[in-house]
Amino acid sequence: MNKISLKDFTKEERREFFQSKYEYYKSFNAQMIIVSILAYISFFVTDCSIFGRFSYETVLPRTIIIIPFIIYTIISKKKTDYRIMIPVTYLMIHIIIWCTDWSTYLLPDRQFAVPGMIIMNLIFVCAGFSAPLKYSIPAHLFLLVDIAVADIFIQYKDIDMMYLFNLPCILAVATMHKMMQGVYFEQYFAKKQLNHLAVHDQLTGVYNRNKLKELINSETGEFIKFSRFDISFILIDIDLFKKVNDKYGHASGDKVLVCLADILKNTVRETDYVIRWGGEEFLIIMPDCSVDDAVRIAEKLREKTEKTDNGVCKSTISIGVSGYTGGDYSVDVKNADIALYEAKKSGRNKTVLYGGSELFSEIRKSG
Ligand code: GH3
Ligand code: MG
Ligand code: MG
Repeated sequence: MNKISLKDFTKEERREFFQSKYEYYKSFNAQMIIVSILAYISFFVTDCSIFGRFSYETVLPRTIIIIPFIIYTIISKKKTDYRIMIPVTYLMIHIIIWCTDWSTYLLPDRQFAVPGMIIMNLIFVCAGFSAPLKYSIPAHLFLLVDIAVADIFIQYKDIDMMYLFNLPCILAVATMHKMMQGVYFEQYFAKKQLNHLAVHDQLTGVYNRNKLKELINSETGEFIKFSRFDISFILIDIDLFKKVNDKYGHASGDKVLVCLADILKNTVRETDYVIRWGGEEFLIIMPDCSVDDAVRIAEKLREKTEKTDNGVCKSTISIGVSGYTGGDYSVDVKNADIALYEAKKSGRNKTVLYGGSELFSEIRKSG
């Protein structure tokens, strides 16, 4: 089996992957920024020891970092999109670098710049866990621009060393991030597959009952996903399916099930949910769909099933339709089941709408 990679994902799937990666490492990122800022401020002690007295000069550059940090904290509380938060995080890191340059500029001895760079590279290592490479590599490379600009003011004694040290560091960190991204991808993909398996029926590929957990409030049975009304239910049962199994065998019965599931999937809208409700029973939940429209669609499904060659035998379905009444959804599914029972009782291969006082209004008889 070919190994799937991020390149095989669509643009939207890649975005989802990077959002997930960002969310996974988000708190790690925040901790890294806090520790970096605390470390940066604590270097005031080093400033004092370099001066051999209280370092009045570096009080401002060492404390002013609090302002961008507050702004960073506010933005990270309000924004969750990695496409905003990762640039903001890298900007915060570069602000720490610029403040470090400012403090260094004010010191009488600037020989500690290279060791300072080791710490900066460590920060880039941490930040890159949450970021796509197309963000982390340019953000890290920008460190060279920071050094070039800082050199205008600081005039490093060992500017060549600064570049010679940082360039391989940037390369090594990018390679490491690429590997780490691969590790996260494997974990992400396995989880995605498991999630898919958990809510899909293995035989037909439509949803299974677990999908309802995402749509329904488990305590009240109410829908949590869509507006309360204009949700319709179509409950489908294959007619005399036991006979199909008995006559053609279980494998052929499976073929009939797969063929019906394909008809259902290909006829309803993308926003509808086709669920394998039981052995040869399917439930379709249709948001933003009146019962009248649901009945029309049900009839379309019934006619298509009757006409489609499933490769085994002529097969028909009976259908019960109901509308959501705003409370526990299972009441309405039960109503659809009552309508379905009526369709069976009155001859099969038909659609029946569950209709309150009237109870059943048969839409069409055929056969
Ligand atoms: P009715 O028209 O009244 O619905 O008749 P029926 O024979 O379809 O009724 P019943 O519900 O009693 O039979 C359903 C059959 O579906 C029984 C079971 O063997 C078969 N079945 C359930 N799940 C599967 C499956 O996954 N594959 C196959 N091939 N058959 C299945
Ligand atoms: Mg049945
Ligand atoms: Mg049946």
